[in-house]
Amino acid sequence: MAPSSRIALFGGSFDPVHRGHLEVARRAAAEFELDRVIFMPAATPPHKVGKDLAPGSARLAMLERATSEEASWEVSDAELQRAGTSFTVDTLRTLAEQCRAGEGAAELFMIIGSDNLPGLPAWREVEEVLTLAQPIVAWREGTPEGHLAELAGRLPADLVGRLSDGFMRLPPLSESATEVRARIAAGTLEDDELPAGVLALIERDGLYGMCSPEAQA
Ligand code: ATP
Repeated sequence: MAPSSRIALFGGSFDPVHRGHLEVARRAAAEFELDRVIFMPAATPPHKVGKDLAPGSARLAMLERATSEEASWEVSDAELQRAGTSFTVDTLRTLAEQCRAGEGAAELFMIIGSDNLPGLPAWREVEEVLTLAQPIVAWREGTPEGHLAELAGRLPADLVGRLSDGFMRLPPLSESATEVRARIAAGTLEDDELPAGVLALIERDGLYGMCSPEAQA
């Protein structure tokens, strides 16, 4: 029997995609032997309802540029197409159906940063989410043990066990989109702080308060 392919959903605002996201995907692929990573920008993430995001088309275009050199990476507009609040459980159900309908078996994973853990028990149908996909947790702050201890009693023990199994114990990566946006607005972003091609789109569209080079001339 052919081995099942290992497919990871990597969802987020990607506003904009930054080097931290790409390094998380690389580390996850290496540690969990992933065959595909699907980057999926949210239409409206549940925890960012009412907050201004760059247009979905721009976030998608930046992701396409940032991921183009890695053959096992793809970008999906499924949540943007679905519109409204993007619940991970809906996305995973659709992916699971697509995998069942496709050729060969597939095993689903879901990449998240550890900053998501405190709010995880409030995710819509969180038990289904953590059952449909093996979580891969990128350590972002605090300690893995501290995060997992906080979840004890708030999620069933077997699901906390799945999160523990999925914790990548590599040193945290400091990049964040909030900081990137702040540095763009302040005019202090270095050219190499964003993946190739992303800065050009930000300049072209004047995103995050960026003045285009022509406008500055
Ligand atoms: P913002 O600062 O706008 O909240 P962000 O940098 O956290 O954005 P998102 O698009 O919200 O980026 O992140 C998508 C996913 O990637 C989330 O699960 C987030 O936790 C994770 N992630 C982002 N940056 C890092 C990082 N430096 N290390 C580990 N995980 C990260």
